[in-house]
Amino acid sequence: MSETLTIALSKGRIYKETMPLLAHAGIVPIDDPETSRKLILDTNHDDVKLVIIRATDVPTYVQYGAADVGVAGKDVLLEHGGEGLYEPLDLEIAKCRLMTAGPVGVKEPEGRLRIATKFVNCARRYYAEQGKQVEVIKLYGSMELAPLVGLADFIIDVVDTGNTLKANGLEPLEHIADISSRLVVNKASMKMKHARVKALIDKIAEAVENRR
Ligand code: AMP
Repeated sequence: MSETLTIALSKGRIYKETMPLLAHAGIVPIDDPETSRKLILDTNHDDVKLVIIRATDVPTYVQYGAADVGVAGKDVLLEHGGEGLYEPLDLEIAKCRLMTAGPVGVKEPEGRLRIATKFVNCARRYYAEQGKQVEVIKLYGSMELAPLVGLADFIIDVVDTGNTLKANGLEPLEHIADISSRLVVNKASMKMKHARVKALIDKIAEAVENRR
């Protein structure tokens, strides 16, 4: 048996939308992460495993080689920094935009802005590029609440339809980046397991192309 190829994925949208792409590459999981409590899923190949982890942990697992390959949102990759990873393929799934948002119709206040977000590195980088002094407040969820209760002037979050912002009296303001899920590969795995990783990338690329 050849060495195991480990693929890191998060549950939910990314898992669901990645499954058809993996199936095109001949990889089908035996367990279903939505019903199983297993964190390592067997597949129809003895030497291919899936690890099911938090979306924000995917780049870390792949960076350190605990997974050879992973699927992560560009938002997560921008926040992580991409160290130790190749990003060979845009899977064109889970599309959204990374944006600033604030209360509808409220003008930008004078002085140092307070920004609430889970994307603290993206926020610092974005405002530094604008030459703006900001205080970045790290949150882990429900960012929309922050401007409503005076915790922050603006938030930075991913926006799809904008309905969540609207429901909370907020509006999208500045576009920071277009987001979609990307295939990422550990740099050492790309060399050491080149034939298998390359074959996987090619099959998934073909599936992305076919779906267009
Ligand atoms: P929206 O359609 O803008 O109301 O989005 C609903 C919520 O889902 C937002 O608060 C986002 O945080 C989240 N969301 C939307 N699209 C994505 C995506 N592609 N990846 C991750 N989170 C998303």
